[in-house]
Amino acid sequence: MHTVYLALGTNLGDKDRNLQVSIEKIAKSIGTLAAASSVYISESWGYISENTFLNQVIKVETELSPIELLHTTQAIEKQMGRTRKSTSGYQDRVIDIDIILYDNLVYQSEELTIPHPFYRQRPFVLEPLKEILSRDENFALR
Ligand code: ADP
Ligand code: MG
Repeated sequence: MHTVYLALGTNLGDKDRNLQVSIEKIAKSIGTLAAASSVYISESWGYISENTFLNQVIKVETELSPIELLHTTQAIEKQMGRTRKSTSGYQDRVIDIDIILYDNLVYQSEELTIPHPFYRQRPFVLEPLKEILSRDENFALR
């Protein structure tokens, strides 16, 4: 069993519902929901958008490998109607699911980097992550 932290972000449509639906799908196809942070409101990051974000970090216990986990989160994004424009860069999205931590694994391939390369710079990931981790009194965030 592996402990993973996933960061959820949404800035289109019914954002509360998008978070809820993604969590239900994660519980069904990835594993047991072990903890969920509060929902945080943030401005778009790295690009300009009129649509503010809702962000949440969840802790999940899973049997999936890192790559299986990535492919499953991507399938959920797709099912929920996330489209990617051909241009690179940040854009509005119904749901974004990023893998932040996977046990204490350090992993890098073309399609997947763990820990997530940017989470330390992103308050909308770091704050909810710290909220969950601080409930576990034995954990110090390095
Ligand atoms: P972003 O999350 O940066 O807004 P995307 O969700 O479109 O952008 O992800 C871009 C790519 O990042 C994905 O195709 C995926 O292969 C890659 N990626 C690398 N590491 C991770 C990770 N830890 N979690 C999620 N995606 C990752
Ligand atoms: Mg992503």
